[in-house]
Amino acid sequence: MKKALICGISGQDGAYLSRLLLEKGYEVVGTSRDAQMSEFSNLQALGIGDRVEVCSMVLTDFRSVLQTLTHHAPEEVYNLAGQSSVGLSFLQPVETLESIAQGTLNLLEVIRFTDKPIRLYNAGSSECFGDTNGAAANEETSFRPRSPYATAKAAAYWEVANYREAYGLYACTGILFNHESPLRPRRFVTRKIIATAWEIRRGCCDNLKLGNMKIQRDWGWAPEYTEAMWRMLQQERADDYVIATGESNSLEAFCREAFSQLGLDMDAHVVTDPALYRPSEIMFGQGNPTKAFRVLGWQARTTMAGVVTKMLEVEKEK
Ligand code: NDP
Repeated sequence: MKKALICGISGQDGAYLSRLLLEKGYEVVGTSRDAQMSEFSNLQALGIGDRVEVCSMVLTDFRSVLQTLTHHAPEEVYNLAGQSSVGLSFLQPVETLESIAQGTLNLLEVIRFTDKPIRLYNAGSSECFGDTNGAAANEETSFRPRSPYATAKAAAYWEVANYREAYGLYACTGILFNHESPLRPRRFVTRKIIATAWEIRRGCCDNLKLGNMKIQRDWGWAPEYTEAMWRMLQQERADDYVIATGESNSLEAFCREAFSQLGLDMDAHVVTDPALYRPSEIMFGQGNPTKAFRVLGWQARTTMAGVVTKMLEVEKEK
């Protein structure tokens, strides 16, 4: 039985990845900064809370990382932990940089130091590309980060690439475009739209405030993206991959789709609030997942309208 360590198991991807690895027969250990305080509600929501072992680990604390990896001796490590909100990163730039860049470096150093054949998946982000000006980004596209979050993710990406090259570590970065699910907290705009649209439909509230509706993103379905993470660690050679649907839609289109699936007129309820605009915004994001299909045999099955349908299905049951 293979053992996997998931750093940041309490988050959206941590929960779906745990479920996937359990299905594949893995023993799963997950970390949280304070495992005794966390309720692991996402694991509970998927009904797997009692099938994974959890422990406390702080990525920015080298000793904590060393102790955890030595004690659990996993074959695969998935680094999903760190401050993950672009918006929040403008307010907490140091926390964002440290948790992502220093955290990833600690993992790499511990793997190098212990000299065990551990395979590392690092959660990279399409935010590193910045605005791709209408083109779909692939693994060769240069990085032009436009937020503290993206800057930190770019640093972590190069750390992984450098340790792979310099020390021969099996370490990969998945450059994932946005992937959504009902496990997203409401501070993420897709979940905010779905939850508020359903509240409006039930008469619990009347309007939805959003920032820039013109931004375009490549939105996929989170459980499919965790499958890509696992596939990256099953290859003969470690490498980096763009994971995306290849389709881009505006936030307005996402919102219109949600309201229309509930039989509502979006224009009667949605207001734009300039206070929600970011200091610097990416207007266009789209990924080219050709390499992932060619090498990993991975392809997104759910695009934007399907993501809306699936998120609404679960929202209605809450
Ligand atoms: P979540 O925010 O849901 O989960 C991340 C986990 O990291 C949290 O559950 C939390 O665990 C831990 N964490 C939060 N803040 C910090 C911090 N300051 N320092 C250390 N740990 C922290 O993220 P997702 O599951 O959505 O994403 C997983 C990874 O993939 C993240 O690194 C994210 O940046 C990246 N990513 C996500 C995308 C998406 O669309 N979802 C797109 C591209 C990349 P705890 O509180 O238990 O310690």
